[in-house]
Amino acid sequence: MCSVNQSCVLILVFKKMKQNIKVIAFDADDTLWVNETFFRDAEKVFATIMKPFAKADEVYRKLYEVEMNNMLLYGYGIKGFMLSLIETANVISNNHVSAQQIGEIIEVGKSMLQKPVELLDGVEQVLKSLQGDYRLIVATKGDLLDQERKLRKSGLLPYFHHIEVMSDKTPSTYQALIKHLDIENHELLMVGNSLKSDILPVLQIGSWGVHVPFHTTWHHEEVNEPIISDQFYTLGSIIELEELMQD
Ligand SMILES: [Mg+2]
Repeated sequence: MCSVNQSCVLILVFKKMKQNIKVIAFDADDTLWVNETFFRDAEKVFATIMKPFAKADEVYRKLYEVEMNNMLLYGYGIKGFMLSLIETANVISNNHVSAQQIGEIIEVGKSMLQKPVELLDGVEQVLKSLQGDYRLIVATKGDLLDQERKLRKSGLLPYFHHIEVMSDKTPSTYQALIKHLDIENHELLMVGNSLKSDILPVLQIGSWGVHVPFHTTWHHEEVNEPIISDQFYTLGSIIELEELMQD
């Protein structure tokens, strides 16, 4: 399992120290199931609708700017994304976007809210093998209603003791979760695809992080600096978590 970038010493340290871990928290989007791909696809459809007004690159650039400006008001999730699409359409078209085009944009969002849930390879096997030894929970951002829908459809609910839908993932929101779980900081391991949301904030408060990269990462979630910590490990696939957590 040791990769070129991570010496086998690292994995031994991680394996020895991890005896303290009681709770494993899983991020949901792009960790348990496919998500970002649907946003990229939706952006492409949106760019096609906006074609009379601007080139695709300009549409993507403006949309990202609008989304960042709206983040504090709307938070994460598809419904906030839909409102940002509509606002971007108004800006790009200089308020000339038609009611019909707005209708098409709303349909883009609605179809995202009805996508089937596509579990990532190995997810269920990993949860099954870890559930006897650890308390498993979900810690995710996004719309409450949409995340509940996906969890229900995923068939994974029986594996989890607790579901936490967080407005944002910061050291203080993780600290509140730890308090709620009635555990110590070093007893939590967070598993997720985003270094920015799933790993850096938990390392900052003395918890553990396992990064499982997904092939597509939203620009907003990217981190460029390398992370060096005994309490951090990167896996090639979630299936490797089974071996990492074995004694
Ligand atoms: Mg994620």
